[in-house]
Amino acid sequence: MALPPLVEPSAPLSTLEIERYARHVLLPQVGMYGQRRLRNARVLVVGAGGLGSPALMYLAAAGVGTIGVADADLVELSNLQRQVVHGTGDVGRLKSASAAERLASVNPLVQVVRHDVLIDAGNALEIIADYDLVVDGTDNFQTRYLLNDACVLLGKPDVWGSIYRFDGQTSVWWARHGPCYRCVFPEPPPPGLVPSCAEGGVLGVLCAAIGSIQAAEAVKLIVGIGDPLVGRLMVHDALRQSWDVLTVLKNPDCAVCGESPTVTGLAGYQELCSPGLPAAGGMPGAEVPADAGAAVPGVSATELADLLSAQGSGPQVLVVDVRGPQERAIDGIPGSRAIHLDEFRSGTAVARIPFGRPVVIFCKVGARSAEAARILMDAGHPDVRSLSGGVLAWIRDIDPGQPGY
Ligand SMILES: [Zn+2]
Repeated sequence: MALPPLVEPSAPLSTLEIERYARHVLLPQVGMYGQRRLRNARVLVVGAGGLGSPALMYLAAAGVGTIGVADADLVELSNLQRQVVHGTGDVGRLKSASAAERLASVNPLVQVVRHDVLIDAGNALEIIADYDLVVDGTDNFQTRYLLNDACVLLGKPDVWGSIYRFDGQTSVWWARHGPCYRCVFPEPPPPGLVPSCAEGGVLGVLCAAIGSIQAAEAVKLIVGIGDPLVGRLMVHDALRQSWDVLTVLKNPDCAVCGESPTVTGLAGYQELCSPGLPAAGGMPGAEVPADAGAAVPGVSATELADLLSAQGSGPQVLVVDVRGPQERAIDGIPGSRAIHLDEFRSGTAVARIPFGRPVVIFCKVGARSAEAARILMDAGHPDVRSLSGGVLAWIRDIDPGQPGY
């Protein structure tokens, strides 16, 4: 489906610009006018991470005149395996600041606008309204639905990508010409069903494959060339090195872009994506346990260290690690017992845990351990707690010699 250019051409290019962008200008489909459209374009890249890194650098090199970088996170050492817009010296800096500096060196003619904030329901419309299109480089369902809905409400294209382990997906959601994200994925998967890259890992170079397609789609939309991925979902498997293209259709009953939309503003993304949390309003089909609101008792890393060192006459605290073997190979809490979260979910874990001992459960940051603790509590265990902040809090407060991830 060919679409007209998204952006009007700027004033004529300077001599230096013509030389810099000569390989674009030589393309009959781009030419001088296409390059002037790129110079006039305003693209917001949400997430200066794995997907955002290649997208940002290619958009800057391509001469997209204004590039917004939205990210409130800091660069971490474990980001550098794939987030190539950042360097080793950037660890600890704001990702938006680090990315802006890198883009300025790639192409000083491009204006970079930093948004050092978490994009949320309160600011999304105002921020996105200033741009021609959005490149979604986020890693969570909450922001994905938010960006989709904001783009539908504002009539803008949402160039989306998603990666996990060796698999990638990408498409252009544009309700004006085809389906939106909700048309194809009406509801997020239940929390915990799909682990994040932070838990399950991701092949670093996969980000280049998907993020560069997103940049290419952005360029095509701006210039108005080729067939954008509107109504098509690309599915990539890096292990097989296969690319499949699925046709995806607009859903007339879509909650945001359908004939009778129920989503007419931005709200409720936490409830949508974490229906087990206390604020749960309950999406259709989302199973919310009746007592999901009751808190799982927490324990801090310092309190756990005190408990472990003070053990004398009483029953020994049993520390349970619910993470996978790859995660345990990176770090852990000495003396802990490995019982995977799946064993809690299937019900086999309960028999492996003595009811006469206090139990502290941990994972990476505390979400999976809270789920496991809840299951054990529901089975009647009298003394279960979840380590607040997970093994990362333990490393930070008690054992800083271990690697985080
Ligand atoms: Zn839709």
